[in-house]
Amino acid sequence: MNYFLTEEQQAIQETAREIAQKKIKPVREHYDVSEEYPWPIVEELRKADLFGVYFPTQYGGLGGAGFELCLVVEEISRVCGGTALTIACTALCAFPIILFGTPKQKEKYLPDLASGKRLGAFTITEPEAGSDATATSCKAKKEGDYYVLNGTKNFCSNGNAAEIYTLFASTNPARGPRGLSAFIVEKGTPGFSMGKKEVKMGIRASPTYELNFDNCKVPAENFLGGEGHGLSVAQGTFDISRPGVAAQALGIAQGALDEALNYARMRKQFGQSVLSFQSSQHMAADMATQIEAARSLLYSVTRAMDKDLLAAEALSEKSGKTVYEELKKVSSKRWTKYSAMVKLFCSDVAMKVTTDAVQLCGGIGYMRDFPVEKYMRDAKITQIYEGTNQIQRNEIGYALIKELAKG
Ligand SMILES: Cc1cc2nc3c(=O)[nH]c(=O)nc-3n(C[C@H](O)[C@H](O)[C@H](O)COP(=O)(O)OP(=O)(O)OC[C@H]3O[C@@H](n4cnc5c(N)ncnc54)[C@H](O)[C@@H]3O)c2cc1C
Repeated sequence: MNYFLTEEQQAIQETAREIAQKKIKPVREHYDVSEEYPWPIVEELRKADLFGVYFPTQYGGLGGAGFELCLVVEEISRVCGGTALTIACTALCAFPIILFGTPKQKEKYLPDLASGKRLGAFTITEPEAGSDATATSCKAKKEGDYYVLNGTKNFCSNGNAAEIYTLFASTNPARGPRGLSAFIVEKGTPGFSMGKKEVKMGIRASPTYELNFDNCKVPAENFLGGEGHGLSVAQGTFDISRPGVAAQALGIAQGALDEALNYARMRKQFGQSVLSFQSSQHMAADMATQIEAARSLLYSVTRAMDKDLLAAEALSEKSGKTVYEELKKVSSKRWTKYSAMVKLFCSDVAMKVTTDAVQLCGGIGYMRDFPVEKYMRDAKITQIYEGTNQIQRNEIGYALIKELAKG
């Protein structure tokens, strides 16, 4: 299918595909088994400028936006969904800074994130604050020129590999969700330490950590988005980051189909190729159709969102206001509904397709030394993080009711 990529987008896609196939594929099993961080791959991605594809050029990026990020994440996930998080988690850290950062914050943090010199992470989840992310008990108290952080975050992807974190804490617990605020926190800040590393079903090349904050003094200039505006920062971020999860899911689904087709064509039973059975062809046909539908939805939504985002970024550079403020002016709508739809649809497709890929391969599909079961394990998380798919359905349902009320 021709999605009419520009020359630059084609180059980005081809570069990501080449690194994925030549550098990541031979070592993906090693990182899945060992759970080591794939630093040599990060180095390849840095050299190819792939961390920078969605950053504005004035911060060292290539001037693209969410679509270019999705192209990269899709290609890497087609080979290894866990390794794709080196870039996707850095994006999840960078998006709130791009959207809500002051010029000073953007100058300080974006160039390092765009070059991949320092990796990023995003941390909102806590043991008691998952789907209800506003139930945070991590607190930030203003003391002079600092905010003092106390509390625990958990399930932080890129946990110990990141050096820059966007973090959410309550600056006013009495105000509940309206007391939530966002911060930029650097690794090495006294009082900030790593807790438990999780042992996971999938995306095992991506470290998931608990983070502890014990009287951790964060400079007040690292306050992001204004006192009590944390919820807007989180929601505005998820609007543009969820397509990244969708791209990860899409790549995983495509990779599983590629492997399953290759195997089913070669595998002979009853004297013929397994793929020559009509039931196998129907299964493959459904998988391929779902993948193409997912890709079409993802590409059209991200392209439409990027038009608004790039316009807002250009206005923000002139006005000095935040990109988010400008985004509200250039866009008549929030992107929550569509962003939730792509995340929901692509991740459900990934789970279905990867499960069917195992089925198509039979017993070998279930074995650790054959790559298909890894796709199934990696797919599952895309239905859970950045809001479970129940939460995405809630968001879509809420948006539909709001639209009805407007008439
Ligand atoms: C591997 C991994 C990596 C992660 N990485 C990060 C990260 O980098 N940064 C970060 O901040 N967080 C991260 N998370 C956290 C992730 O976003 C949460 O796990 C997720 O939002 C769900 O929260 P929970 O696990 O507390 O589930 P719960 O909220 O306890 O949900 C349990 C079940 O109840 C359902 N449920 C809850 N509320 C509702 C409702 N209102 N309506 C319908 N159903 C509902 C859920 O859908 C789910 O099925 C990660 C999680 C994992 C597993």
